[in-house]
Amino acid sequence: MSGPLGTLSELRDALDAGELTSSALVAASLERAATLGASLGAFIRLREPEARAEAEAADARRRAGRVLSPLDGIPIAIKDNLVRAGEVTTCASRILEDFVSPYSAGVVERLDAAGAIVVGRTNMDEFAMGSSSEHSIFGAVRNPWDSTRTPGGSSGGSAVAVAAGIVPVSIGSDTGGSIRQPASFCGVVGLKPTYGRVSRWGLVAYASSLDQIGAFGRSAADVATVLEVIAGHDPRDSTSLPEPSPPCVEALEADLSGRVVGLPREYFVEDGMAPEVRTAVRAAVAELEAAGAKILEVSLPHSEFAVAAYYLIATAEASSNLARYDGVRYGHRASGVSDLSDLYDRSRSEGFGDEVKRRIVLGTYVLSAGYYDAYYRKAQQVRTLLRRDFDRAFSSCDVIATPTAPELPFRLGERAADPLRMYLGDVYTVSANLAGLPGVSIPCGLADGVPVGLQLLAAPLEEAKLLGVAAAYQRQSDHHRARPPEEA
Ligand code: GLN
Repeated sequence: MSGPLGTLSELRDALDAGELTSSALVAASLERAATLGASLGAFIRLREPEARAEAEAADARRRAGRVLSPLDGIPIAIKDNLVRAGEVTTCASRILEDFVSPYSAGVVERLDAAGAIVVGRTNMDEFAMGSSSEHSIFGAVRNPWDSTRTPGGSSGGSAVAVAAGIVPVSIGSDTGGSIRQPASFCGVVGLKPTYGRVSRWGLVAYASSLDQIGAFGRSAADVATVLEVIAGHDPRDSTSLPEPSPPCVEALEADLSGRVVGLPREYFVEDGMAPEVRTAVRAAVAELEAAGAKILEVSLPHSEFAVAAYYLIATAEASSNLARYDGVRYGHRASGVSDLSDLYDRSRSEGFGDEVKRRIVLGTYVLSAGYYDAYYRKAQQVRTLLRRDFDRAFSSCDVIATPTAPELPFRLGERAADPLRMYLGDVYTVSANLAGLPGVSIPCGLADGVPVGLQLLAAPLEEAKLLGVAAAYQRQSDHHRARPPEEA
């Protein structure tokens, strides 16, 4: 077997029909990861030989007529911020370079129980802080459509693993867009579920009130299948919702008649949006309308404050979460230190990269006495207003359609000296995290040889409706079938 792997549903059908074994599939996935995946910088570590052994076990189960789930025997990749007992999880950071977890993440346990075969851990921005997958001690991830450009971030490796046909589906995390934006840049589907839908137990924390785990795939149906496996209550995550895993796959057949798609007036402004993005997204909205949806202009009046509120809240939470890396309990410890304070200083200075340090400094500042009210409290108030904007909008529409990112994938290195510019690229994605909403990015065309993504948002817990609209769109369009050139 060579060439890109098929979609999850194609591979499952082939396994069910006995045309393919999981062992052959996993071998092909590992080979492609070691060749194309390596040239794209997509992986931090491959789980070889573990994945091969697990594939053999999956084949044996299947021969005995015991198939655990639609993911049984399917190769999958996970972002390197999800822990597994006995394995190193680095978060692409020097501070965790040798960190071996004593326990497994809830999502990893669920994937194991479903028989999914984790072939590798994907590259990312350090601690998931970034939008380009360049801030990694393992080097930058490259976009398979054009290797001089970024695949987006922070879950760049997971998006690339699917886009390059190394795995049919993968897992990422999304705090302010880290699943949706790389999905958009790489031409795949990326789903961020409702906050609390998927357990954060064992996800290395960035900003806990915003972090959520989700999936990449080539179709809405494939990410729905993964969501059904990974979602559901977990008492070990205090913000985990009590609702059971949502039945999404069966909702995908619904057509669009009667569905109202809201277009937020504030998102479709000239300022800052690339004309190619506007054209592709407008065309996608017209296709939704042609397929029977009603298009309605809605208003999200506080949108202009979202990026500022996000970068205050996310950095505040990050500065608190990352206080645990003190050189004592886990991770990198500086040697030859003079006293305890020197140990903290040097371990953290040596262990964290520049972008992470920038955020710790910013977050510490906004939480400090005298600034707390002016920045942190204000940002929390804006968060409430944003939530209310969405509540109001969803009283008149089913889903909201926006671009996922304002621009096409930019060149590697282009934003290295301009963090503010990088942050502003998150303008369409951060609101869903601040409001806790589910969101998905789906491919809606190519411009300048690289993909453009359409973002759809829904009210909390409405993943079935959200993916139903995405699936209906994909029945009308072929954009998600486009593949990057093989030689990238
Ligand atoms: N780009 C955003 C940030 O850097 C989002 C990252 C994420 O979702 N993990 O904070």
